[in-house]
Amino acid sequence: MNKYYPFENPPLPYSYDALNPYIDTKTMELHHDKHLQTYVDNLNKILKDSGFQNLSLEQLIYNADKLPEDISEPVRNNAGGVYNHIFYFNGMINSPLKSPVGNLLNAINKEFGNFENFKKEFKNSAMSVFGSGYAWLVKDKGKLKIITTPNQNSPIEQWLCPILNIDVWEHAYYLKNYNVRSDYIENWFNVVNWEAAEKNYNLCS
Ligand code: MN
Repeated sequence: MNKYYPFENPPLPYSYDALNPYIDTKTMELHHDKHLQTYVDNLNKILKDSGFQNLSLEQLIYNADKLPEDISEPVRNNAGGVYNHIFYFNGMINSPLKSPVGNLLNAINKEFGNFENFKKEFKNSAMSVFGSGYAWLVKDKGKLKIITTPNQNSPIEQWLCPILNIDVWEHAYYLKNYNVRSDYIENWFNVVNWEAAEKNYNLCS
């Protein structure tokens, strides 16, 4: 994706129907073409005459607090919305690979005992998000951690290194699962891109 203003909405790395039957086509269309697009458009609008067009997407998130008061919160929400959604879409795939691999698998076994325990803990965290937000697997000072973020806040604000995230805003699942977030989380586990997660893990220090 274009990391600098004007920001763009990168196409999904798979077709809209690729994640069926776990995540439905209509949800993916709306989520990518409407929800993410709105964050991209809003961010570009906010930055237009701001004098901060030279900051990258990540720099905008790191420095949101230091921006002028009138754009600080809108930048946090919309730059976070762009970053978090691209991370989420890139973290899914239609693949027969249903569990972690490589260094990440070793780290998960070390930190959580085994993959089943990890799944349970990750699901509990994703269920615990009150209202809208995300659950994340991150690396923090060399250790794996599961955290949640409200709204469009991003773990990179706290200098945590993201490995995997799940969007638990209702728009991510309401058309298919209605209000039943737990079904969505179970479905999502079938489309996790564990190779992408492994790559992210290896990029974290
Ligand atoms: Mn979303």
